Amino acid sequence: MSGPAFVPEFYEAGALIGVLTTQPLNRMLDYKAPEGGCHLGAFVEVPLGPRKVIGVVWGPGAGNWDIKKVRSAYRVLDAAPMRLEMRDFLRRAADYTLTPMNAMLRLATRAPGLGDPPSMRKIYRRGAGEPSRMTDARGRVLDTLQEYGDLSFTLKELAELAGVTAPVIKGLVEQGCVSEEDSPRDLPFQRMDPSLPSKELTEDQATAAAYLATGVASGNYGTTLLRGVTGSGKTEVYLEAVAAALRAGRQALVLLPEIALTAEFLKRIQERFGTRPAEWHSGATMTERRRIWRMVGHGQAQVVIGARSALFLPYQNLGLIVVDEEHDTSYKQEEGVLYNARDMAVLRASICGAHVVLASATPSLESWANAESGKYKRLELTSRFGPAVMPTMKTIDMRDAKLPSDRWVSEVLKAEVDKRIEAGEQAMLFINRRGYAPITLCRACGHQVGCDDCDARMVEHRFQKRLVCHQCGESKEMPEKCPSCGVEGRMAPVGPGVERLGEEATALWPDARIATLSSDMYGSARALKAEIESIAAGGADIVIGTQLVAKGHNFPNLTLVGVIDADLGLQGSDLRAAERTFQLMRQVAGRAGRAEKPGTAMLQTYQPDHPVIRAILAGDEEGFWRAEAAEREQAGVPPFGRMAGIIVSGPDVAQVFDLANHLARNDAPLRRVGAQVFGPAPAPIARVRGRHRVRMLIKADKSVALQSAISSWLRQVQIKGDVRLAVDIDPQSFY
Ligand code: ADP
Ligand code: ZN
Repeated sequence: MSGPAFVPEFYEAGALIGVLTTQPLNRMLDYKAPEGGCHLGAFVEVPLGPRKVIGVVWGPGAGNWDIKKVRSAYRVLDAAPMRLEMRDFLRRAADYTLTPMNAMLRLATRAPGLGDPPSMRKIYRRGAGEPSRMTDARGRVLDTLQEYGDLSFTLKELAELAGVTAPVIKGLVEQGCVSEEDSPRDLPFQRMDPSLPSKELTEDQATAAAYLATGVASGNYGTTLLRGVTGSGKTEVYLEAVAAALRAGRQALVLLPEIALTAEFLKRIQERFGTRPAEWHSGATMTERRRIWRMVGHGQAQVVIGARSALFLPYQNLGLIVVDEEHDTSYKQEEGVLYNARDMAVLRASICGAHVVLASATPSLESWANAESGKYKRLELTSRFGPAVMPTMKTIDMRDAKLPSDRWVSEVLKAEVDKRIEAGEQAMLFINRRGYAPITLCRACGHQVGCDDCDARMVEHRFQKRLVCHQCGESKEMPEKCPSCGVEGRMAPVGPGVERLGEEATALWPDARIATLSSDMYGSARALKAEIESIAAGGADIVIGTQLVAKGHNFPNLTLVGVIDADLGLQGSDLRAAERTFQLMRQVAGRAGRAEKPGTAMLQTYQPDHPVIRAILAGDEEGFWRAEAAEREQAGVPPFGRMAGIIVSGPDVAQVFDLANHLARNDAPLRRVGAQVFGPAPAPIARVRGRHRVRMLIKADKSVALQSAISSWLRQVQIKGDVRLAVDIDPQSFY
């Protein structure tokens, strides 16, 4: 473990240094250390051709240059040098994911304006004088400042808090009663107080919390799988681990799937520790990102709540990483650097002596297996907190429902929803498909409207009045005439999406308040959060949603969940199809009956005897995991074997296949370690954004050093022109 007192190696001005930049150059560049010298790990600005770019001093320069010809770094940036453990982490993450270091550094510097001097703003605090004449408004300003002690505010904050206009404050400044000062914009976050009271924990919770607190306090690496049904108090428990990190003077990071970053969650943190944490997510402003990045580096942001990229912030002294909903697929980044934040969290923690908590009601098979084998400790919370009990689960056999082809809610489900509405409770209808209809078909010729640039059907989004490609995001107007046969007025939607289900619900329950929740129906994450909060407060009778609603929201009055198509995830050949369906159904069902009233979940299915559907109903999770693990072990697939996906893409299909075939033929470096190559074959979505895509799959034993074998294999070829090759270690998606 490295404490805050580490002093990095120093390079005198003019000494040769090796600098890692964010530019796609797959090597270090040599410079002379700038005026005043620089520390190892320092962030520097260096010339690159005609440009100025940012880099990190990675070590001494390679040295085989005429030193007179080497250019000088311009300056050292005003940021804490990158710590040894962070450089270690980036290097090992790069090795694991087979990513160039430059791309890793880009991930670690995603805060715009890092090189700029901190900008200033005016802040206000209590001054010495007394006003010549006291008014109500002036009194409120002075009382507010009194109440908050030595805190300072921006003009806007103070005006809002005191309920006055800006001129009132300016008037007090003139009289010297309020002082106005310049202060850097990048202010430290307020100290968090771990000694505020926690909720009174149940015996189960207290045991788990004590175990985690001891682990965190030890200062040693360890990973714990915290398993407990939705509502069992996992959050309460890991907040105690956060408290332990704070007591030890260390920082804590809580990773959440983006959408779970709700006001409700932030309020819980604030209640427990007295102030808001730093929030790192895609909605944060540029200024806020830079502030967090800097303050994290100075240890002045003690708790960070964030989406997966928060893992790459420059923590000064990280003692705990919580990965909430650890099974969530959004932890895997599927573009750019292909990494899994859950696995990288474990790597990072093992380097800096931190504890990891993986929390979930339905853990990934990977984490379950790691707990089984003793690599992770496993803690269980077995019951819901308080009076809440797990929902009753039932299936509805759709073979008996005899619905017309444009209806999806069975009579049985409708009757159940009716009952909830009568009782003043909420019901949810779940369908995991965005848009209005997945297929737009010409009834004259059978043509299905596809994307011009991808091998994918376009999905009608009636709300936006357009057809949208879910692969590339391209959209076009709904055609009047068939683009293939030209016949007019015969284009028809086929199949249900969340918007169409909303339409059916409006017809079935004309008097009910219906809220349809789908990520693309709300312009911003904030609008969506507002809608979710309004639903939680009772603003709807029926909630209709995609998997967005399955993630961690608390609707206390919701007592029924109807799953429109429980079979949807079971189609296809994805090795995790069963696992995903199991998790999703359990999560969705977990939305029902979170408070005093018991809940029911009803699954509409055409295959009520499918083993996965039966396992969901039986609630026998251990049984499900054991059976699933046995099957994967038998097949030698993750987590019992290793896999890597290779995706070759380019505008010219022949070129793409040439490269892939050449690689497949020259597989000696892989065979040497016993790894096998499958393919190349056109990817299931064979064209995206105009690029043809070919996939290969590599399989190997768990013990094989697969990354180094793949590197030697790929070193045999030069990738030229427009062709791109991506390596996806531990692939989660196979499209
Ligand atoms: P999970 O994270 O497992 O879904 P939470 O920690 O969110 O569960 O707990 C569910 C609800 O129960 C929350 O509103 C939480 O505040 C409450 N709760 C859990 N444990 C306790 C406790 N020991 N005392 C009071 N409230 C609790
Ligand atoms: Zn497309």
